[in-house]
Order: sequence, then C-alpha cells, then structure tokens
Amino acid sequence: ISAANDNDQPRILLLGLRRSGKSSIQKVVFHKMPPSETLFLESTNKIYKDDISSSSFVNFQIWDFPGQVDFFDPTFDYEMIFRGTGALIFVIDAQDDYMEALGRLHLTVSRAYRINPHINFEVFVHKVDGLSDDHKIETQRDIHQRANDDLMDAGLDRLHLSFYLTSIYDHSIFEAFSKVVQKLIPQLPTLENLLNIFISNSGIEKAFLFDVLSKIYVATDSSPVDMQSYELCCDMIDVVIDISCIYGAYDDDSLAIIKMNNTTVLYLKEVTKFLALAIHEVFELTQVRRNCLEDHLDSPKAPVLNGTPRGLV
Ligand code: GDP
Repeated sequence: ISAANDNDQPRILLLGLRRSGKSSIQKVVFHKMPPSETLFLESTNKIYKDDISSSSFVNFQIWDFPGQVDFFDPTFDYEMIFRGTGALIFVIDAQDDYMEALGRLHLTVSRAYRINPHINFEVFVHKVDGLSDDHKIETQRDIHQRANDDLMDAGLDRLHLSFYLTSIYDHSIFEAFSKVVQKLIPQLPTLENLLNIFISNSGIEKAFLFDVLSKIYVATDSSPVDMQSYELCCDMIDVVIDISCIYGAYDDDSLAIIKMNNTTVLYLKEVTKFLALAIHEVFELTQVRRNCLEDHLDSPKAPVLNGTPRGLV
C-alpha cells in the first residue's frame, strides 16, 4: 500500500472546520455508530489517531483535526504529517455558510501540496441530506468553482481536488470513502481484473470485495456501480455480522445466501479475516436453471449450469 508512513500505514487525514461532521463520519463508517447518535457527540478538541488496522483490511489512520487548532502553528510538525499522508479529506458542511471553510481548504491543501504533491486531495461536500437535489448539485458546483479559482489565482493549477456529495444518513459516505481508499491500493487494477473475469465466467450481475468492518468496498468489477446493489450488499453484511455476533461464528467458512425473490440473490463469502466477496445476482431464471440452483444450494458440491455462481460455494 502506497504513501506509507513510519509504521508502513497509509494515512488518511480527516480535516475541516469544527462541527463540519468529522467525528460523525469516523464513528459511523468505522465504529458502526447509528447516524442519529452523532447528535450527542462531543466536539473534537484534539488530534485523534484512530488506528483501525487491527480490525480492518484497510490499514490506515484517521487524524481528526479539531477546527480551532491552528494547523500552521510553528510548534506543530505538519511537514512530517503531510509527508506520510496518502489522502487528505477536507469536510465542508454544505448546510452552513461555507466561505470560511473554503478559505481553510485553500490554506490547507496549498501547504500540503508544497510538501507532498502526491497526496490525493478529496473534498466531502457533507450533510447534503438536508438539501434538495437541485440545491446539492448547485452547492457542489459552486464549491468546486470557487476552490479551483482560488487554486488558479495561487498558480496551483496542477493541484487536483476531487469532490463527493456525502451524508451519514445514507450510503453516500461509504461510497465516497470507498473511492478514497481504493486510490490508495496499488493492487486495485489486479483486483478489478480478477472480479471482471469472475463475473464474466459466472454470469453474475455485480461483485464487490468488501472490507467487512467498514463496508467500504475495496474493489468491484468494472461495470457501473448501481447504488441499489451496493446498498443491498451493505445490508447483507449487517445481517451476517449481526447473526455471527449472536452465535459467535464468523470464520473462513462463513457464507450467506439470501434469496430475495425469484430473480435476485445475494451471496456473501468470506475471503480473508477482514474481506468478503459480496455478489448481487439478477437472474433471468428459467425453470431448469432455478431447479439447478436449488439443487446446488441443497448440495453445494453438485455441479451447476452456466450462469449460476459455480465458483462460489
Ligand atoms: P466535528 O466537530 O467536525 O467532529 O463535527 P461532529 O462530528 O461533532 O458533527 C457536528 C454535528 O453535525 C453533529 O450534530 C452531527 O450529528 C451533525 N452531522 C454530521 N454529519 C451529518 C450529516 O451527514 N448530515 C446531517 N444532517 N448532520 C450531520
């Protein structure tokens, strides 16, 4: 994994003004906190290193910088921090006046870029659950334009910012984090290739490789990601984890098959301690294939016809 710091872990920095939603994002994505409970979070007032590498495939740290700390205080070793940073996520509260946040964004990314131009700069236009669809697009466009104008004026036109519309109240925050993390995985093209081969040989609709803890998808095949497939797979992970916790059983052999209706089946197969392969299959089931799949599920060793997930069970 690239952008290693002294502990060989890529580091993701989570920055933004106070109350922009940093702690909430971290708690919801990595600690399974229900979004409504973030209302009671105390505001961050220290740099928080959340090392999740012992429970997740993705080895990284989140440094939550409290809004009020002067990031450019000379006693603060930001050079060392930026040198070891893989991705810098800047969170902007889209429900609030964002002019101050834009100033801070500019200051932060321009400093960081001068020290380490290899950082991926990611901007989360956050809390968009409170905005109408038109307002969301307009806010993102406006923030994008202003941030890039500031960079141009400073002669930093090579500094690239990526923008995401996010909210902790839906799957958008997981989707955005997935994209951020994927950029830090050098093996991504290989994983995508393997998933492409897998789906084309088995006739499956969509396959995701998930980090089970966070529900970040580490890779998927190259067909477009449809939010509904992703949400279904996320929900299935929750079901499997809940049941595994009740019975204390989640290991190399864990496997779940959820048949939603005649045409939709979800599969989850443990790959390593932290990773699971989740598959969304939409069948056009003929009676023959349906019988065949049912036989297969009854007796997993039985061979199955083309189009059923042979390689899985
Ligand atoms: P921090 O100071 O940047 O760590 O901000 P917090 O995580 O403490 O969040 C400040 C407030 O924003 C809390 O009341 C959260 O419930 C709220 N919040 C965070 N994310 C969202 C979001 O996606 N949508 C909405 N509506 N509120 C959010």
